[in-house]
Amino acid sequence: MKKKLKVNWEELGFNIVNTKSMYYAKCRYDSNWEIGGLIPFGEIKLSPAAGVLNYGQGVFEGTKSFITKKNNVVLFRPDMNAERIKLSSKRLCIPEMTKNFFLNSVFETVKDNIDYIPPLGKGSLYIRPIIWGTSPTLGVGPAEEYTYIVYVSPVGSYFKNGIKPLDLIITTKFHRAAPKGIGNAKAIGNYSASLLPVKEAKKRGYDEVIYLDAANNKLIEEAGSANIFIVKDGILKTPRLNGSILPGITRDSIIKIALELFHMEVEETEVSLKDLLNADEVFCVGTAVVVIPVASITFEDKKFSYNNGMMGTYTMRLREKLIQIQEQDAEDPFGWIQDLKVKV
Ligand SMILES: *Cc1c(COP(=O)(O)O)cnc(C)c1O
Repeated sequence: MKKKLKVNWEELGFNIVNTKSMYYAKCRYDSNWEIGGLIPFGEIKLSPAAGVLNYGQGVFEGTKSFITKKNNVVLFRPDMNAERIKLSSKRLCIPEMTKNFFLNSVFETVKDNIDYIPPLGKGSLYIRPIIWGTSPTLGVGPAEEYTYIVYVSPVGSYFKNGIKPLDLIITTKFHRAAPKGIGNAKAIGNYSASLLPVKEAKKRGYDEVIYLDAANNKLIEEAGSANIFIVKDGILKTPRLNGSILPGITRDSIIKIALELFHMEVEETEVSLKDLLNADEVFCVGTAVVVIPVASITFEDKKFSYNNGMMGTYTMRLREKLIQIQEQDAEDPFGWIQDLKVKV
């Protein structure tokens, strides 16, 4: 029986809504993640000297649970999040958790907060697993103790007012990540670096920023929290994972759909500024937006428009296929859907 909750599904945005519970676990450096469990959602206590607060030792994940057309509660490729948080942890000297520990923590949290999953079409339950170094750490070094939390929040459909293609700007003033830095980890510090570029872009009327490679300023890397694709003469191209680009799960899914279901030519390659500006279609991908078309890109005060500012054919087909697979409205040939087998 669905309890009456005070959540107004119609008014959901991308803000935190307090839910019932969160998963909580602790682990010593050089130890293993073994014990954890659900506690009421709420504030936590930290030393002001906590490693994460002083030196940014933290990594996170982002995924979502939602109700499908078959009325199942599902997750999309959570094993990929499990793998990615291991890689991010390793880069930041955080104890790596096993895939099972991660998946179990996510499943338990979602199941306990099932009443907060929006009805089909109203949004999803955003899931945020996050790990911090939390013991006092005055000298720079890995913390002695780590805290892992999985919290969830219902979020509205990104496109409830219809799909509005993005106006992006290429920044030559800022870089997102350095070669051999932490750009390929979902490390919390990467996002503080993006605040000012995005703030400046928004002030000038753009939705997001596209970053160039820090070594040469010639190649496209990604948008601040989404990967980027271009289509030219029917060929799909996306920047290859060069170490400073975040390996998005949506990115990987779009590549597989294009290759194996649509038999398109796909290149993970160097994408130059020229390639981007001369593309037929451009789109961004990520868990929250899934696939979002790009209407225009501005570079050095010149604005380049794509497909008259409307969603292109390839973008539309790839987007629809991925959404259909997610919502169990089409076959799931890759086994991407994880059914939590719970009643709603
Ligand atoms: C999370 C993230 C993405 C998108 O990854 P998904 O797994 O598709 O959600 C892309 N770029 C950055 C910088 C990110 O943090």
